[in-house]
Amino acid sequence: MPPPESSPNAIARGLGVLGDEWCLQLLRAAHSGATRFGRFQEELPISAASLAARLALLADEGLFIRRVYQQNPIRAEYLLTPQGRGTWPILLAIWDWEDRWADHPAGELPDRRHAECGQSFHPELVCATCGVAAGRRDVTAAWGPTGGWDRSIPDTATRRRTRASRTAGEFPETMAVFGNRWSAVVIGAVFQGIRRYSEFESLLGIPSNILSERLRILVEYGLLRVDVTEQGRREYHLTEKGRAFFPIVATTLSWAERWFALPEGPAISWQHGDHPLVPRLDCDQCHRPLQAAQIEVLETSDQKV
Ligand SMILES: [Zn+2]
Ligand SMILES: [Zn+2]
Repeated sequence: MPPPESSPNAIARGLGVLGDEWCLQLLRAAHSGATRFGRFQEELPISAASLAARLALLADEGLFIRRVYQQNPIRAEYLLTPQGRGTWPILLAIWDWEDRWADHPAGELPDRRHAECGQSFHPELVCATCGVAAGRRDVTAAWGPTGGWDRSIPDTATRRRTRASRTAGEFPETMAVFGNRWSAVVIGAVFQGIRRYSEFESLLGIPSNILSERLRILVEYGLLRVDVTEQGRREYHLTEKGRAFFPIVATTLSWAERWFALPEGPAISWQHGDHPLVPRLDCDQCHRPLQAAQIEVLETSDQKV
């Protein structure tokens, strides 16, 4: 066991699971009812070894519970725990960002309907403390007692995946920019106001070749733009598309702080004006807080533009 002051914090634990493309895909499949090995394999182009490793990780981290449903031969299924079900706002924020910003063929992403008001809707990130919509520009971040970059970087040593196994999936851009631990950390740093290459390098301790590649991908997908200052320094700034990623960051961190809380306190806190931001997703049609049970996925429509 590492000493408490250097153990991974909630951000590292959260990104260790969610900053992984396959884990995100498995959670999405689980939310639509998949529980068994064969069903996950039918839905995702994943190898048996990768699938077994991800199911074990999701169970170890408390998102799935493994239940044996047949003794001879032993067969188990994987059910979402409350912690696993609690990822629905993150998946909803991902769907929304993809729908608004990613380059999808028309009608590829299914619409969502809010059962409470009967409307097709988009989620809106709202601060639950004051009830006002919260955009990236309305909030400031500060490290909490368990914060700091050294504790916020997920352990990548044991579970590297190869580029060859990249999938298209339903959320290709999110997977490309977020379904990778290093990318997720770089995005987190950008949202904390880190701008310069040298700062990313010194603060995050990411190997230079990986850092360059991750920044290049974030620029390529249009979340960041590069400015060169008069002194010739490269600075990375969020684009509008990048700022629109904030609900994914906010819901991810809020979920992580809830389920991987440490006794010393949170890793990061977000201020909204003079009070803490408590992220919540509301329906943009009726402005009521969304609940998982009231979100219906509609059949993919081909009239959608
Ligand atoms: Zn507020
Ligand atoms: Zn509504």
